[in-house]
Amino acid sequence: MEYGFGVDLGGTTVKIAYFDCEGTMLDKWEIPTNTDDGGSRILPDIAESVRNYLACKHIDKEQILGVGIGVPGPVDNEGNVNKCVNLGWGFKNIQQELSELLGLPVKAGNDANVAALGESWKGGGAGCRNMIMATLGTGVGGGIIIDGKPLHGVHGAGGEIGHITVNPYEEERCACGKQGCVEQYCSATGVVRMAKRVLTLSHQDSTLRHIVPLTCKDVFDAAKNGDALAKETLERVYDYMGQFLAGVCCVVDPEVVVLGGGVSRAGQPLLDGVRQYFEKYTFYGSSSVRFVLAELGNDAGAYGAFKLVLDATHPA
Ligand code: ZN
Repeated sequence: MEYGFGVDLGGTTVKIAYFDCEGTMLDKWEIPTNTDDGGSRILPDIAESVRNYLACKHIDKEQILGVGIGVPGPVDNEGNVNKCVNLGWGFKNIQQELSELLGLPVKAGNDANVAALGESWKGGGAGCRNMIMATLGTGVGGGIIIDGKPLHGVHGAGGEIGHITVNPYEEERCACGKQGCVEQYCSATGVVRMAKRVLTLSHQDSTLRHIVPLTCKDVFDAAKNGDALAKETLERVYDYMGQFLAGVCCVVDPEVVVLGGGVSRAGQPLLDGVRQYFEKYTFYGSSSVRFVLAELGNDAGAYGAFKLVLDATHPA
């Protein structure tokens, strides 16, 4: 049996997991991300942690097929990152650097694309070779899997579905600098922003008026309890979600759409709400797509990262 590592590199912690080649996670741990000195310690720290693990467990390096890593920024096909603002990195060939530090094959990808690959392998989209994943968190990230492979695109920005424009009349700015992006409506912060807007435009009472600070979960809870303005907020959010996912489905024609991130904790009501508006906007050819929730949570990145290096070393 062969083994390997999946690494999910984030701005504050690095999650490292050890897998067998069938994709069973055998162990996982975290180390802090040291962003001092332009992030120069990050890859050496990861290499040291992996080496220590192998030494502690008396694992022969011959049994290790490699290390996959997901990073928070665009990554091209050669494993170059051009800029990872969270890490302090400018241009860097992480694949080559980490491989030289470890003496093992390394395969790198964008964290959102890698998480989508993980969900398509062992999570909500297991068994599906064509999948769209939307991660509805603080922002909206995404990943697209086509024929079992993540769509990286030429700059590594493929699958960046959170910045599709859905409202050209928006007046507030998105974090990316544009106006009217999906992220401004469908992220956890977007849901709260929409709720505040609905409350401002109406004179009706709502339990939401008495909650400070208002969270995304409050909006879903209030809607479940029948609060009219919370329900109206979610109708608007679902409308934007249905619209943009129908658009992406026109391009990808997936078997499944996986919804993940903090907003997806709303569960079935979210799936039902999005589905209803999706039907309104979708092209009939992709109307049979299934909507499911992500299943791997914070481990999706590690699973997908390991799958990257598994596919690179054992092409199907
Ligand atoms: Zn944007």
